[in-house]
Amino acid sequence: MIRTLLIANRGEIACRIARTARRMGIRVVAVYSDADRDALHVAMADAAVHIGAAPPRESYLRADRILDAARATGADAVHPGYGFLSENAAFAEACAEAGIAFVGPPAGAIRAMGDKARSKALMEKARVPLVPGYHGEDQSERFLADAAGDIGYPVLIKASAGGGGKGMKIVEHASDFSAQLASAKREAASSFGDDRVLVEKYLTRPRHIEIQVFADSHGNCIHLNERDCSIQRRHQKVLEEAPAPGMTPERRAAMGQAAVAAAKAVGYVGAGTVEFIADESGTFYFMEMNTRLQVEHPVTEMITGLDLVEWQLRVAEGERLSLAQAEVPVLGHAIEARLYAEDPDKDFLPSVGLLQHLHLPATDGAVRVDTGVRSGDAISMHYDPMIAKLIVHGKDRAAALQQLRAALAQCQALGPATNIAFLARVAAHPAYAAGEVDTGFIARHRAALLPPPVAATDRDLALAALFLLLQRRSEAARTAAQSADPWSPWHAADGWRLNGDSYHALTFADPASDGARATVIAHFRGSGFALECPGGTIAAEGTLAADGALAATLDGMRATVTALRQRQSVFVIDGAFARRLDIVDPMAGAEDRDADSGRLQAPMPGKVTVVHVRPGDKVKRGQVLMAMEAMKMEHAVAAPRDGTIKELRYKAGEQVGEGEALIVFEDEDA
Ligand code: ADP
Ligand code: ADP
Ligand code: MG
Repeated sequence: MIRTLLIANRGEIACRIARTARRMGIRVVAVYSDADRDALHVAMADAAVHIGAAPPRESYLRADRILDAARATGADAVHPGYGFLSENAAFAEACAEAGIAFVGPPAGAIRAMGDKARSKALMEKARVPLVPGYHGEDQSERFLADAAGDIGYPVLIKASAGGGGKGMKIVEHASDFSAQLASAKREAASSFGDDRVLVEKYLTRPRHIEIQVFADSHGNCIHLNERDCSIQRRHQKVLEEAPAPGMTPERRAAMGQAAVAAAKAVGYVGAGTVEFIADESGTFYFMEMNTRLQVEHPVTEMITGLDLVEWQLRVAEGERLSLAQAEVPVLGHAIEARLYAEDPDKDFLPSVGLLQHLHLPATDGAVRVDTGVRSGDAISMHYDPMIAKLIVHGKDRAAALQQLRAALAQCQALGPATNIAFLARVAAHPAYAAGEVDTGFIARHRAALLPPPVAATDRDLALAALFLLLQRRSEAARTAAQSADPWSPWHAADGWRLNGDSYHALTFADPASDGARATVIAHFRGSGFALECPGGTIAAEGTLAADGALAATLDGMRATVTALRQRQSVFVIDGAFARRLDIVDPMAGAEDRDADSGRLQAPMPGKVTVVHVRPGDKVKRGQVLMAMEAMKMEHAVAAPRDGTIKELRYKAGEQVGEGEALIVFEDEDA
């Protein structure tokens, strides 16, 4: 029996595990780093232990401190979640040695599957189909380049020890092989401390279909159907669903059998996922096995009605699986969307900072939200930038998709950049609705999914202006109510309108249009306003609630949006789409636009990994000047314009803060 469970993780997965454990009457112990003192997963736990500084190496990856915390709190089991120590065989062994149950497979199974190259060799023996490729020990550049030539371009280079899409490079032509190999090895060495790679055929238009497997310690092993995780960016999943569109019972049985064979080949116990890549004909190949709970496990829970964390805990207690293969149901359809703090317009670069405002949809049987953050929490550069997972269910795919669109329209997050509008565009896309999913989906539909920013319309300007006017009116009313002289004209509810003429000019800068200015002149008309916008006058009135709900009528048309103010910016949020307009203060002096016209700044805090240029070099706009590692990924830093390099501020290996100048051009002041 597990009485006390220590959760060796953070964020949404720690919260999700805690929920099930508590329902089962298990006491929950959380661990936390400096960055997570006030985190939701800590607040949810019965006890919490501080384990170190914010960088994972100093806290969530410190097996010793986590085990100390388990002993100190009398935990009899540790759940590792995903990421961090979840696929660390030494940690699983250390738990066993300490007499604490590790909620996961035996260390031997983790080791066997932990290395993509070695696991492929094993699977070959177990007759599980593999993508054509080389996954052997020879790591010389010449040999690997020859292997790539034999396989035939395009090929994919993968870090053998890889995960999370890191150290993975597509090579289209032989001439790029050497550079891509170097980059993959660099990323692999820094992410995994191991630069070995494998090379395999890069399939075009493939689908990522994975099978959830479950085994108990009595030799039973079944699968819980498939998940389609083909909608990806950076080789990482964004939307997942179950069942896979177009899946037939025969193919499910064949993939399920291969997955169970893979699990049995390594003596698997607990929850695991066997990932396959399938080509257009439906032929499937083993990719890797993730020996842990998967981020997207909720879609399986939705279509089976099972709680996978409960099953994990029961298996860890030595129970037998409660279902036979034939009893596993497929109930309707489920889709998960991962809400990330990342900027789709900047190649999905993670974005960090304070979540000043977060609103997620209400949950019921059809809508589930898994999150580890609240309004006011920070998205830290040290961890995965996921804000929440939205999981919806319907009787079929069309019904689930309908739920997804409705749920996304209720998601609002201000602070870091997010992918909410992007997800809404995917959910609205006819090709997605038609189930035409493959891993190239996002790239293929780029134009529709990542449209260039559209300049604010008169309607946007009118809504922003109406919001400010209503806000000022209620502030004025409040001031009047509190004033010692309620009859003072300056304190009357509409007193500020007496200030000169009976109109007010509001000027906005539009970030979607390079900061172009637009002025709205508001005239007072009874309870409403006539708003002179650039394209004509709009009659506007409305009411504003404390939570930002703005019920507006513009020229007789009703609109309900959310309007919020963050410092000098107004956000008008309409469904999943947020429009920002910056308030231009007429009292401010000359434009204080910073003169960094082309100075190259670090897009985020991180470490410089390689510098390709030297002072005196002439560079072209778009040329890659250096690479930075941030949020566990390598990012190319390109020249913002043509110019000559004057000074390099950082060397490879050095740490850089966000917004710091990386490179100074000849024609700017140092
Ligand atoms: P899933 O297949 O469950 O979606 P991912 O590959 O997206 O799993 O990984 C889940 C999380 O674990 C992500 O936060 C990812 O960054 C992290 N992760 C996965 N593998 C590793 C690894 N080997 N080292 C560090 N983090 C990892
Ligand atoms: P990770 O450990 O990062 O999850 P995977 O080996 O599971 O690495 O691959 C991640 C993704 O990369 C897959 O979901 C798929 O989209 C893509 N991918 C992997 N192998 C291939 C391949 N041979 N051809 C085309 N795409 C691939
Ligand atoms: Mg994978």
